[in-house]
Amino acid sequence: MIPFNKTHQTGNEINYMQEVLASGKLAGNGLFTKKCQSWFEERYGFKKTILTTSCTDALEMCAILINIKEGDEVIVPSYTFVSTAIAFVRQGAKIVFADSYADNPNIDADKIESLITAKTKAIVPVHYAGIACDMDKIMEIAKKYQLYVIEDAAQAIDSFYIDKDGVKKALGSIGHLGAFSFHETKNIISGEGGLLTINDEQFIRRAEIIWEKGTNRAEFFRGEVNKYGWVDTGSSFLPSELIAAFLWAQLEQIDVIQAKRIGLWNRYYELLSKLDLKEIQLPQVPDYATNNGHLFYIVTKNIESRNQLIQRMKENGFHAVFHYLSLHNSDYYKEQYDGDELENSDKFTDCLLRLPLFYDLQESAIEQLVENCLNPAFIS
Ligand SMILES: *Cc1c(COP(=O)(O)O)cnc(C)c1O
Repeated sequence: MIPFNKTHQTGNEINYMQEVLASGKLAGNGLFTKKCQSWFEERYGFKKTILTTSCTDALEMCAILINIKEGDEVIVPSYTFVSTAIAFVRQGAKIVFADSYADNPNIDADKIESLITAKTKAIVPVHYAGIACDMDKIMEIAKKYQLYVIEDAAQAIDSFYIDKDGVKKALGSIGHLGAFSFHETKNIISGEGGLLTINDEQFIRRAEIIWEKGTNRAEFFRGEVNKYGWVDTGSSFLPSELIAAFLWAQLEQIDVIQAKRIGLWNRYYELLSKLDLKEIQLPQVPDYATNNGHLFYIVTKNIESRNQLIQRMKENGFHAVFHYLSLHNSDYYKEQYDGDELENSDKFTDCLLRLPLFYDLQESAIEQLVENCLNPAFIS
């Protein structure tokens, strides 16, 4: 059976973890943490980055940083992972769910403005499959209504937005804050892990404090204050050096990993475009976006058609999976939901199917999958 995902290790993870063990310094915010953070800041132009134990944690830090309080409203796409919403719900926010585009699971930027009220505090675009949302439009709306923009860039490492002046900007560097994931299902992994990106300088000092249990320990270690103590709210959001060491081995290989994944993604796209499937939608990459090979999906005509395809793929030895049940229809939130129907989000809930894509996948497997399962003759 070809699995949907298989984790990839570069081989150097164990060596760097051994270095950490030899140093005896296993807690967070050590040498490897600093190496990873500087690497991200230099390569992508983030003003400041902070490693976290997950993307969910990084989003929770965002909610604390922008002072989300009971009754504040946060605009989130309904078609996303739970974490995008839960980080703000924990601080008492009401989530206002937005619909996707008809031909792209990302938040429909033209539908955001009508959701804004006097209580709206932030917009959280999710760059689904690593493909950028329309950030010029979103940033313009945010500016007009003085809202914060927090990019859920969990899937978006090494992917870019090309703005209206043709400037290429790393995803996660455009909003006031951003969050990445290194969960084992993402392109670059550390098992569990995440990164907070800070592009608005006003948040830097407080972010370091929230990160380290509400203390100014980071300033103390830089010699900026002569003792440290409890100065704000916070939690323990920092990963161990063992995790940072693992991540460092992955970051060193990012260009190899990305080239491989993008190559596989392109192979799917090339083979499927040639088939000219009438009943299946392929991913759209808008002119303002790049593709980082995070995931390859197709969209079927209806849920029955998707079920048939999953079954057919299973019989042929391929594990394809779907995801995201519209959050506005979730067991946890549906009682509170008082907004409109979100037909595109519900369509992707029923019809989006993710195909196997991982570093060690062979192109020949993709060729077989397409030939044996996606031939137009098999698709109703
Ligand atoms: C994976 C993912 C997350 C959660 O990341 P963790 O690191 O597991 O917390 C959040 N949002 C999106 C869109 C994701 O794909």
